[in-house]
Amino acid sequence: MLKIGWGYDIHRLHDGYKTVLGGVEFPTYPRGFNTHSDGDVVAHAIVDALAGALGAGSLGDYFPEDDPNDQNARSIEFLSRFRPVMERHHATVSNLDCTIFCSDVRIGPVAEEMKRNIADGLGVPTGSVNVKGKTNDGFGPEGQGQAISATVVVQVATDAK
Ligand SMILES: [Zn+2]
Repeated sequence: MLKIGWGYDIHRLHDGYKTVLGGVEFPTYPRGFNTHSDGDVVAHAIVDALAGALGAGSLGDYFPEDDPNDQNARSIEFLSRFRPVMERHHATVSNLDCTIFCSDVRIGPVAEEMKRNIADGLGVPTGSVNVKGKTNDGFGPEGQGQAISATVVVQVATDAK
């Protein structure tokens, strides 16, 4: 059986914090996420999409924001840590498509690195993963450099009837 999941996340940008997206850091960008983990909206949206496809809750059920062990966690590691849940549901990722909305960080030059990080985390071929960026054309918090968001659509195959 094929199932679809959708995920979304947004975090505000603050001066003096790191931006991490799809496990990639942007060391020359002076703003970033002041969050419990590293605030990687790509990784967070992916886990939400996977949990959604499985009918198995959301990111916070697996990686709660008050877990002291995940203070400053590299959220890209949440993908491999979610794999046992996928296995319990006899589920594998067919393909995943991620869109990142941000104005000042350029996704194109690092899209391949993000795809590799995501594919490695999920244990799927890089050809099953797509990442693309949108500037939001100056509109809204993402377009004005106040926040970065990501949406994810994932298709999951299960052996459930
Ligand atoms: Zn988040």
